[in-house]
Amino acid sequence: MVSPKEEGGMGFQDLRGFNIALLGKQLWNLVKCPDSLIARILKAKYHKRSSILDASMGYRPSFVWRSIMSAQELINKGVRWRIGNGVNVRIWGDRWIPTLPGQFVPTAPMGLPVEANVCELVDPDTNQWDIPLLESCFTRDTVEAISQIPLRGNEEVDTIMWHNNKEGNYSVREGYKEWSCAFKEQHGVVGFGEESVWKKLWSLQVPPKVRQFMWRFGREILPTGVIVSERNPRWGDRCPFCDQVETQVHLFSECQWASRICRQFEVVGCFARRGSGSCYEWFKSMAESEDEASLESWCVLLWYLWKERNAHMFNGAKLPEEEIPVRTKYFLMDYKQHQHREEVIPTPVVRNGWRKPTMGRWSVCTDAGVLPTGDTGLGVVIRDADAKFKYAAAKNIAGKWSSEEVEALAMEMGVQLAYQFQVQEVMLESDCLSVIK
Ligand SMILES: [Zn+2]
Repeated sequence: MVSPKEEGGMGFQDLRGFNIALLGKQLWNLVKCPDSLIARILKAKYHKRSSILDASMGYRPSFVWRSIMSAQELINKGVRWRIGNGVNVRIWGDRWIPTLPGQFVPTAPMGLPVEANVCELVDPDTNQWDIPLLESCFTRDTVEAISQIPLRGNEEVDTIMWHNNKEGNYSVREGYKEWSCAFKEQHGVVGFGEESVWKKLWSLQVPPKVRQFMWRFGREILPTGVIVSERNPRWGDRCPFCDQVETQVHLFSECQWASRICRQFEVVGCFARRGSGSCYEWFKSMAESEDEASLESWCVLLWYLWKERNAHMFNGAKLPEEEIPVRTKYFLMDYKQHQHREEVIPTPVVRNGWRKPTMGRWSVCTDAGVLPTGDTGLGVVIRDADAKFKYAAAKNIAGKWSSEEVEALAMEMGVQLAYQFQVQEVMLESDCLSVIK
């Protein structure tokens, strides 16, 4: 049940893991706000000389400290340093090289003391990586990986970030994901190796109750006679339509009642697909060979059969058999039409193209991109209030930056340029929505 949906589970959360992910948030807050009162108290009591991420449980830990420490391993797995001036990051032991596995230096200390910090690898005169020093301390792969990290100058401090999202912030959701992966690795829990089959099920355009029904069908856990009577022998294990033993396979394919109904059904191949296998095999073979529309109709038909079986068993009701395929069809059609209506929401009109800035303002257009040579380029065009071209500038920068970062740098360059020309009011334009936000 706790496996992700695409691995045949229901995507429910494991409470233990979820709890650790929640505690991870508390620990993350302590890491990000070391000056908060609680962070200072804990530091004074438990980790005077180390960071909270290196702290140990210590002698007679309190309940709070023990709880927080239970998330330390999780947080340590996912944090990475973003290098600013490199003063707070240790070369060996901290995770700071995004392109290396594990993100840390894989070799033993050489050339510099063990406790050396990253700033010692930077040439103070040029503010660039000291390549000869890097080459004397690390392997070639590591040198290459380090030299790709952009240096952000002396004023910027190093920041700690969560490795898996753009904002670099830990969320309980991400923490839980990380925990599940680690748990699986540790315990050798793997999915059913049937990912694509389950993925297909969860992507079908049928009502959620039908998908859930099909999941139980595929796992063969529908409460048929055989399953219920195992737990409660007072219940019979007989099929309500023909008095044979009611297994899932019987009810949906061998029973005369079901086969009479399915014979009128448009997906003619659906019986042949079962062969002599289990319901899972049947579903798998349908999912592999039928197109989406047929698969969806078939799922809804099975769901309808199950609904009819229950109505008959518990209320004694029975629809005329020829009505079931017809109802199946209309049920699905209704659902799709409804879905379609929901989809056709008028989208706001986005006007493209450049517009003249409003009264008196100059316009600063910026853009950035990665050149085929691997270099990164920034560009700025400045126009005055009458939309007349005034200035333009472009420059290449070294290092491997993310697209948001280069767009932000281009905007910074635009603002600086406008400032240099003493432009009073500007309208800043860029095509990068996330930076603007
Ligand atoms: Zn039967």
